[in-house]
Amino acid sequence: MIHIEVHCKLIYDTLKIMGSIIDVTSQVNLEEHLKLSEKRYESFFYYNTDMIYDIDLNGTIIAMNPACQRVAGYQPDEVIGQSFVSFIVDEHIDKTMYHFSEALNGVPQQFDITIWDKDGKRVDLSCSSIPIIVNEEVIGVYGIGKDITKIKRAEEQATFLANYDPLTNLPNRRLFENRFSEISTNKKVAVMFTDIDHFKQVNDSFGHKIGDQLIQLVATRLKNQVRDADTVARLGGDEFTILLPNIKDDKEPLEIAERIIKTMTTPFIIDGVDLTTTSSIGITISTANLDYQTLIQQADIAMYKAKSYGRNGYALYSKEMDEH
Ligand code: GH3
Ligand code: MG
Repeated sequence: MIHIEVHCKLIYDTLKIMGSIIDVTSQVNLEEHLKLSEKRYESFFYYNTDMIYDIDLNGTIIAMNPACQRVAGYQPDEVIGQSFVSFIVDEHIDKTMYHFSEALNGVPQQFDITIWDKDGKRVDLSCSSIPIIVNEEVIGVYGIGKDITKIKRAEEQATFLANYDPLTNLPNRRLFENRFSEISTNKKVAVMFTDIDHFKQVNDSFGHKIGDQLIQLVATRLKNQVRDADTVARLGGDEFTILLPNIKDDKEPLEIAERIIKTMTTPFIIDGVDLTTTSSIGITISTANLDYQTLIQQADIAMYKAKSYGRNGYALYSKEMDEH
Protein backbone atom coordinates (compact mmCIF):
# COMPACT_ATOMS: atom_id res chain seq x y z
CA MET A 1 0.00 0.00 0.00
CA ILE A 2 1.18 3.47 -0.83
CA HIS A 3 -0.17 6.88 0.14
CA ILE A 4 -0.57 9.43 -2.63
CA GLU A 5 -1.48 13.09 -2.79
CA VAL A 6 -3.49 14.12 -5.90
CA HIS A 7 -3.46 17.71 -7.23
CA CYS A 8 -5.90 18.73 -10.04
CA LYS A 9 -6.09 21.94 -12.01
CA LEU A 10 -8.67 22.96 -14.63
CA ILE A 11 -7.22 24.68 -17.66
CA TYR A 12 -10.04 26.97 -18.89
CA ASP A 13 -8.83 27.57 -22.45
CA THR A 14 -8.75 23.94 -23.29
CA LEU A 15 -11.26 22.65 -20.71
CA LYS A 16 -8.72 20.10 -19.77
CA ILE A 17 -7.69 19.02 -16.34
CA MET A 18 -4.09 18.81 -15.41
CA GLY A 19 -3.24 16.58 -12.51
CA SER A 20 -0.27 15.47 -10.52
CA ILE A 21 0.15 12.53 -8.18
CA ILE A 22 2.77 12.60 -5.47
CA ASP A 23 3.87 9.57 -3.49
CA VAL A 24 3.66 10.68 0.20
CA THR A 25 3.96 7.19 1.71
CA SER A 26 7.11 7.95 3.65
CA GLN A 27 5.70 11.21 5.06
CA VAL A 28 2.45 9.52 6.18
CA ASN A 29 4.39 6.63 7.70
CA LEU A 30 6.57 9.06 9.60
CA GLU A 31 3.55 10.94 11.00
CA GLU A 32 1.91 7.70 12.07
CA HIS A 33 5.14 6.57 13.65
CA LEU A 34 5.39 9.85 15.56
CA LYS A 35 1.76 9.61 16.72
CA LEU A 36 2.32 6.06 17.88
CA SER A 37 5.49 6.95 19.69
CA GLU A 38 3.70 9.86 21.40
CA LYS A 39 0.87 7.53 22.52
CA ARG A 40 3.35 4.98 23.80
CA TYR A 41 5.13 7.68 25.81
CA GLU A 42 1.79 8.99 27.12
CA SER A 43 0.90 5.54 28.47
CA PHE A 44 4.33 5.20 30.06
CA PHE A 45 3.91 8.64 31.68
CA TYR A 46 0.27 8.48 32.82
CA TYR A 47 0.00 4.86 33.94
CA ASN A 48 3.42 4.54 35.55
CA THR A 49 3.21 3.51 39.22
CA ASP A 50 6.42 5.49 39.88
CA MET A 51 6.49 9.28 39.95
CA ILE A 52 7.59 10.83 36.65
CA TYR A 53 8.27 14.54 36.31
CA ASP A 54 9.71 16.73 33.63
CA ILE A 55 12.13 19.45 34.71
CA ASP A 56 13.45 22.27 32.53
CA LEU A 57 17.01 23.62 32.47
CA ASN A 58 16.25 26.02 35.37
CA GLY A 59 14.97 23.27 37.63
CA THR A 60 11.30 24.19 37.16
CA ILE A 61 8.86 21.29 37.04
CA ILE A 62 6.86 21.47 33.81
CA ALA A 63 4.93 18.19 33.97
CA MET A 64 4.11 15.47 36.48
CA ASN A 65 2.26 12.18 36.16
CA PRO A 66 -0.68 11.05 38.36
CA ALA A 67 1.66 8.90 40.52
CA CYS A 68 3.19 12.14 41.87
CA GLN A 69 -0.22 13.05 43.24
CA ARG A 70 -0.78 9.55 44.64
CA VAL A 71 2.59 9.41 46.39
CA ALA A 72 3.03 13.02 47.57
CA GLY A 73 -0.55 14.31 47.61
CA TYR A 74 0.03 17.45 45.52
CA GLN A 75 -2.32 18.61 42.74
CA PRO A 76 -0.59 19.38 39.41
CA ASP A 77 -1.14 23.15 39.87
CA GLU A 78 0.74 23.00 43.20
CA VAL A 79 3.78 21.49 41.51
CA ILE A 80 3.97 22.67 37.92
CA GLY A 81 5.87 25.93 37.67
CA GLN A 82 7.64 25.29 41.01
CA SER A 83 11.33 24.59 41.47
CA PHE A 84 11.92 20.94 42.32
CA VAL A 85 14.15 22.11 45.20
CA SER A 86 11.14 23.35 47.19
CA PHE A 87 9.94 19.77 47.76
CA ILE A 88 13.23 18.36 49.04
CA VAL A 89 14.23 18.14 52.72
CA ASP A 90 17.02 20.61 53.57
CA GLU A 91 19.70 18.02 54.19
CA HIS A 92 19.28 16.52 50.70
CA ILE A 93 19.20 19.73 48.64
CA ASP A 94 22.97 19.90 47.92
CA LYS A 95 23.07 16.26 46.90
CA THR A 96 20.05 16.65 44.60
CA MET A 97 21.50 19.81 42.97
CA TYR A 98 24.69 17.91 42.26
CA HIS A 99 22.82 15.06 40.55
CA PHE A 100 20.68 17.56 38.61
CA SER A 101 23.73 19.36 37.25
CA GLU A 102 25.35 16.02 36.32
CA ALA A 103 22.14 15.09 34.44
CA LEU A 104 22.33 18.46 32.66
CA ASN A 105 25.84 17.44 31.60
CA GLY A 106 24.22 14.47 29.88
CA VAL A 107 25.04 11.84 32.50
CA PRO A 108 22.06 9.81 33.86
CA GLN A 109 21.92 9.75 37.69
CA GLN A 110 20.64 7.34 40.35
CA PHE A 111 20.27 8.40 44.01
CA ASP A 112 17.99 8.31 47.06
CA ILE A 113 16.38 11.45 48.49
CA THR A 114 13.65 12.46 50.90
CA ILE A 115 10.90 14.90 49.96
CA TRP A 116 8.04 16.53 51.90
CA ASP A 117 4.56 15.38 50.99
CA LYS A 118 1.54 17.67 51.12
CA ASP A 119 0.81 16.70 54.76
CA GLY A 120 4.36 17.54 55.83
CA LYS A 121 5.43 13.89 56.08
CA ARG A 122 8.78 12.67 54.79
CA VAL A 123 8.68 10.44 51.72
CA ASP A 124 11.81 8.51 50.73
CA LEU A 125 12.41 8.16 47.00
CA SER A 126 14.82 6.19 44.90
CA CYS A 127 15.36 8.61 41.99
CA SER A 128 16.69 8.50 38.47
CA SER A 129 17.49 11.74 36.65
CA ILE A 130 17.60 11.21 32.91
CA PRO A 131 18.87 13.92 30.55
CA ILE A 132 16.47 14.79 27.70
CA ILE A 133 18.77 15.11 24.69
CA VAL A 134 17.47 16.63 21.44
CA ASN A 135 19.82 17.36 18.54
CA GLU A 136 22.76 16.54 20.77
CA GLU A 137 21.70 19.16 23.27
CA VAL A 138 20.29 18.63 26.78
CA ILE A 139 16.97 20.47 26.95
CA GLY A 140 15.77 19.22 30.34
CA VAL A 141 15.68 16.28 32.73
CA TYR A 142 13.16 13.53 33.29
CA GLY A 143 12.91 12.38 36.87
CA ILE A 144 11.59 9.02 37.98
CA GLY A 145 10.93 8.59 41.69
CA LYS A 146 10.13 5.27 43.32
CA ASP A 147 8.50 5.47 46.76
CA ILE A 148 10.77 3.46 49.08
CA THR A 149 9.45 4.91 52.36
CA LYS A 150 8.15 1.58 53.66
CA ILE A 151 11.41 -0.22 52.82
CA LYS A 152 13.46 2.57 54.48
CA ARG A 153 11.31 2.52 57.63
CA ALA A 154 11.61 -1.28 57.86
CA GLU A 155 15.40 -0.98 57.48
CA GLU A 156 15.54 1.70 60.18
CA GLN A 157 13.38 -0.43 62.46
CA ALA A 158 15.62 -3.48 61.88
CA THR A 159 18.75 -1.40 62.60
CA PHE A 160 17.12 0.00 65.75
CA LEU A 161 16.10 -3.45 67.01
CA ALA A 162 19.58 -4.80 66.29
CA ASN A 163 21.21 -2.06 68.35
CA TYR A 164 18.74 -0.77 70.94
CA ASP A 165 16.57 -2.11 73.71
CA PRO A 166 12.94 -1.38 72.76
CA LEU A 167 11.74 -0.99 76.39
CA THR A 168 14.18 1.77 77.36
CA ASN A 169 15.53 2.90 73.94
CA LEU A 170 19.00 2.46 75.46
CA PRO A 171 21.78 0.79 73.46
CA ASN A 172 21.72 -3.01 73.79
CA ARG A 173 24.61 -5.39 74.49
CA ARG A 174 25.72 -5.40 70.84
CA LEU A 175 25.91 -1.59 70.48
CA PHE A 176 27.61 -1.35 73.87
CA GLU A 177 30.31 -3.74 72.68
CA ASN A 178 30.67 -1.79 69.42
CA ARG A 179 31.10 1.47 71.32
CA PHE A 180 33.79 -0.20 73.42
CA SER A 181 35.63 -1.42 70.32
CA GLU A 182 35.73 2.15 68.96
CA ILE A 183 37.77 3.49 71.91
CA SER A 184 41.46 3.88 71.20
CA THR A 185 43.42 1.39 73.26
CA ASN A 186 45.56 3.89 75.20
CA LYS A 187 42.49 5.54 76.77
CA LYS A 188 41.67 4.88 80.40
CA VAL A 189 38.15 3.52 80.63
CA ALA A 190 35.71 2.48 83.31
CA VAL A 191 33.04 -0.15 82.85
CA MET A 192 30.19 -0.35 85.34
CA PHE A 193 27.70 -3.11 85.81
CA THR A 194 24.56 -2.17 87.71
CA ASP A 195 21.58 -4.27 88.75
CA ILE A 196 18.43 -3.24 90.64
CA ASP A 197 18.22 -4.71 94.14
CA HIS A 198 15.33 -7.10 94.84
CA PHE A 199 13.66 -6.22 91.57
CA LYS A 200 11.75 -9.51 91.60
CA GLN A 201 9.78 -8.20 94.57
CA VAL A 202 8.58 -5.22 92.48
CA ASN A 203 7.29 -7.60 89.81
CA ASP A 204 5.75 -9.87 92.42
CA SER A 205 4.08 -7.10 94.41
CA PHE A 206 3.00 -4.68 91.68
CA GLY A 207 3.05 -6.71 88.49
CA HIS A 208 5.26 -6.92 85.42
CA LYS A 209 3.88 -3.70 83.90
CA ILE A 210 4.95 -1.57 86.87
CA GLY A 211 8.25 -3.48 86.80
CA ASP A 212 8.71 -2.43 83.17
CA GLN A 213 7.99 1.20 84.02
CA LEU A 214 10.50 1.08 86.85
CA ILE A 215 13.14 -0.24 84.41
CA GLN A 216 12.37 2.69 82.08
CA LEU A 217 12.65 5.27 84.90
CA VAL A 218 15.88 3.70 86.17
CA ALA A 219 17.26 3.97 82.62
CA THR A 220 16.46 7.68 82.53
CA ARG A 221 18.10 8.31 85.91
CA LEU A 222 21.22 6.42 84.85
CA LYS A 223 21.50 8.46 81.67
CA ASN A 224 21.07 11.68 83.62
CA GLN A 225 24.16 10.89 85.70
CA VAL A 226 26.59 10.50 82.77
CA ARG A 227 27.86 12.65 79.91
CA ASP A 228 26.77 12.33 76.27
CA ALA A 229 30.05 10.65 75.38
CA ASP A 230 29.37 7.88 77.92
CA THR A 231 27.16 4.91 77.05
CA VAL A 232 24.44 3.45 79.24
CA ALA A 233 23.15 0.14 77.89
CA ARG A 234 20.51 -2.32 79.02
CA LEU A 235 21.79 -5.87 78.85
CA GLY A 236 18.39 -7.33 79.73
CA GLY A 237 16.23 -7.80 82.82
CA ASP A 238 17.23 -5.30 85.50
CA GLU A 239 20.90 -5.24 84.38
CA PHE A 240 22.57 -2.17 82.90
CA THR A 241 26.14 -1.44 81.87
CA ILE A 242 27.85 1.93 81.67
CA LEU A 243 30.92 2.75 79.64
CA LEU A 244 33.01 5.80 80.53
CA PRO A 245 35.37 5.91 77.55
CA ASN A 246 37.86 8.50 78.73
CA ILE A 247 38.15 9.03 82.47
CA LYS A 248 40.54 11.62 83.86
CA ASP A 249 41.36 9.70 87.06
CA ASP A 250 40.28 6.67 89.13
CA LYS A 251 38.10 8.83 91.35
CA GLU A 252 35.73 9.88 88.58
CA PRO A 253 33.87 6.56 88.11
CA LEU A 254 33.54 6.17 91.88
CA GLU A 255 31.95 9.61 92.12
CA ILE A 256 29.54 8.75 89.31
CA ALA A 257 28.67 5.46 91.05
CA GLU A 258 27.98 7.35 94.27
CA ARG A 259 25.70 9.76 92.43
CA ILE A 260 23.83 6.85 90.82
CA ILE A 261 23.36 5.06 94.15
CA LYS A 262 22.01 8.30 95.64
CA THR A 263 19.66 9.13 92.78
CA MET A 264 18.16 5.62 92.86
CA THR A 265 17.07 5.99 96.49
CA THR A 266 14.69 8.85 95.66
CA PRO A 267 11.30 7.11 95.41
CA PHE A 268 9.89 6.46 91.92
CA ILE A 269 6.23 7.39 91.53
CA ILE A 270 4.51 4.98 89.14
CA ASP A 271 0.72 5.03 88.69
CA GLY A 272 0.44 6.91 91.99
CA VAL A 273 2.51 4.30 93.85
CA ASP A 274 5.70 5.35 95.66
CA LEU A 275 8.36 2.77 94.89
CA THR A 276 11.56 2.81 96.83
CA THR A 277 14.38 0.79 95.38
CA THR A 278 18.14 0.64 95.42
CA SER A 279 20.84 -0.58 93.03
CA SER A 280 24.23 -2.20 93.32
CA ILE A 281 27.16 -1.31 91.09
CA GLY A 282 30.38 -3.07 90.12
CA ILE A 283 33.17 -0.99 88.62
CA THR A 284 36.34 -1.89 86.80
CA ILE A 285 38.98 0.56 85.57
CA SER A 286 41.48 -0.27 82.87
CA THR A 287 42.97 0.88 79.60
CA ALA A 288 40.84 -0.06 76.62
CA ASN A 289 43.46 -2.52 75.37
CA LEU A 290 42.03 -5.09 77.75
CA ASP A 291 39.57 -7.49 76.19
CA TYR A 292 35.92 -6.44 76.38
CA GLN A 293 34.67 -9.75 77.81
CA THR A 294 37.26 -9.59 80.60
CA LEU A 295 36.19 -6.06 81.58
CA ILE A 296 32.49 -6.92 81.63
CA GLN A 297 33.25 -10.00 83.67
CA GLN A 298 35.30 -7.97 86.15
CA ALA A 299 32.51 -5.39 86.50
CA ASP A 300 30.02 -8.25 86.99
CA ILE A 301 32.19 -9.84 89.69
CA ALA A 302 32.48 -6.46 91.44
CA MET A 303 28.71 -5.98 91.21
CA TYR A 304 28.08 -9.32 92.96
CA LYS A 305 30.57 -8.23 95.58
CA ALA A 306 28.52 -5.05 96.11
CA LYS A 307 25.38 -7.22 96.46
CA SER A 308 27.14 -9.41 98.99
CA TYR A 309 28.20 -6.34 101.02
CA GLY A 310 24.49 -5.69 101.56
CA ARG A 311 23.40 -4.00 98.27
CA ASN A 312 22.67 -0.25 97.78
CA GLY A 313 26.37 0.41 97.14
CA TYR A 314 29.27 -0.06 94.76
CA ALA A 315 32.44 -2.12 94.68
CA LEU A 316 35.60 -1.59 92.67
CA TYR A 317 37.01 -4.71 91.05
CA SER A 318 40.32 -6.03 92.33
CA LYS A 319 42.23 -9.19 91.46
CA GLU A 320 41.51 -10.75 94.86
CA MET A 321 37.80 -10.86 94.00
CA ASP A 322 38.55 -13.49 91.32
CA GLU A 323 39.44 -16.03 94.01
CA HIS A 324 35.97 -15.83 95.49
P1 GH3 B 1 19.07 -8.92 93.34
O1 GH3 B 1 19.09 -7.84 94.37
O2 GH3 B 1 19.90 -10.08 93.76
O3 GH3 B 1 19.42 -8.43 92.00
O4 GH3 B 1 17.57 -9.43 93.32
P2 GH3 B 1 16.55 -9.37 92.12
O5 GH3 B 1 15.23 -9.70 92.67
O6 GH3 B 1 16.67 -8.07 91.42
O7 GH3 B 1 17.07 -10.54 91.24
P3 GH3 B 1 17.51 -10.51 89.71
O8 GH3 B 1 18.27 -9.30 89.42
O9 GH3 B 1 18.18 -11.82 89.46
O10 GH3 B 1 16.11 -10.51 89.02
C1 GH3 B 1 15.82 -9.81 87.91
C2 GH3 B 1 14.36 -10.08 87.60
O11 GH3 B 1 13.94 -9.23 86.54
C3 GH3 B 1 14.06 -11.47 87.10
C4 GH3 B 1 12.98 -11.31 86.08
O12 GH3 B 1 11.77 -11.86 86.52
C5 GH3 B 1 12.81 -9.84 85.94
N1 GH3 B 1 12.80 -9.37 84.57
C6 GH3 B 1 13.63 -9.69 83.56
N2 GH3 B 1 13.35 -8.99 82.46
C7 GH3 B 1 12.28 -8.21 82.77
C8 GH3 B 1 11.50 -7.26 82.03
O13 GH3 B 1 11.74 -6.97 80.87
N3 GH3 B 1 10.47 -6.64 82.68
C9 GH3 B 1 10.18 -6.92 83.98
N4 GH3 B 1 9.17 -6.28 84.56
N5 GH3 B 1 10.88 -7.81 84.70
C10 GH3 B 1 11.92 -8.45 84.10
MG1 MG C 1 18.38 -7.43 90.44
